[in-house]
Amino acid sequence: MVSTQDRRRLVLFDVDGTILNSGGAGRRAIKRALIEVFGTTGSADSFPFAGKTDPQIILELMTGEGLPEELIRRKLGTFFKVYIRNLEEEIPVARKQLYPGVRELLSNLSDMAQTILGLLTGNIREGAEIKLKAFDLNNYFQIGAYGDDSEDRYKLPQIAISRTAEKFGRSFWGKEVVIVGDTPHDINCGKAVEAKSVAVATGWTSLDELKNHKPDYIFEDFSDYEKVIEAILA
Ligand SMILES: [Mg+2]
Repeated sequence: MVSTQDRRRLVLFDVDGTILNSGGAGRRAIKRALIEVFGTTGSADSFPFAGKTDPQIILELMTGEGLPEELIRRKLGTFFKVYIRNLEEEIPVARKQLYPGVRELLSNLSDMAQTILGLLTGNIREGAEIKLKAFDLNNYFQIGAYGDDSEDRYKLPQIAISRTAEKFGRSFWGKEVVIVGDTPHDINCGKAVEAKSVAVATGWTSLDELKNHKPDYIFEDFSDYEKVIEAILA
C-alpha cells in the first residue's frame, strides 16, 4: 500500500454505473411514478439516463411529451415521493450488482484519516440512500451533493466542497478533490473546480469514449482497488 500520511483528499463517488447497477430498479421506479403523476412515460424506455440528475431526467422526458415546464416543476415534489415509494419496492426484487472491488475500495479509503468520502450523484438523496442500503454502503459516505441540490450536475462539485467545509471545517481545493464516475459528465463536471477525475467503464460508456474526455485516470473496473487508491492519492 502507498503511504497515506498527509494526503488530504475529498473523494466524491457517483452511484449508478460506478458503485452499483440497480438492475433496472431505478428506471422502473421512475416509469411507474411518471405514469401515476403525469399519465405517460414518454420515451423513458430509450432515453439515456446516465450522467443526468433525476430532476433533469423528468424535465427532459416530460417537456419532450409537450407538457409545460411550469406544470412539471409544480409536480416534481409529488413525483419524487411516489418515485421513492416505488424504488423501495423495486430494489429488493431487482437483479442488482455491486461492481468488483468497490467495497474494498470504499473500506480502505474510509480508514484513511486524511480522506473524506462523499457522494456526487444525480440521484436525489433518498434514492441514493435506498440503492446504497441494499449493499450496506451508506456508512462509508460522510457528505454528499445530490440531484435534489441542483438539477445541473455541473453545480454539484462546488456544493459538495462547500458542504464539506461547513460540516468538517476543512477546505479541499483542486486535485485534493477527486471525482469518481462512469460518464463524460462525471469527468467534465469537476473541471471548473480543477478536480482530479477518475473514470471507470463499468457503466454504459465504453473505455474509449471515456478516454476521449481525458480523465486523469481511467479503469476498466475497480477490481485492482489498490491501483485505484494509488491514483486517488497520486
Ligand atoms: Mg453514473
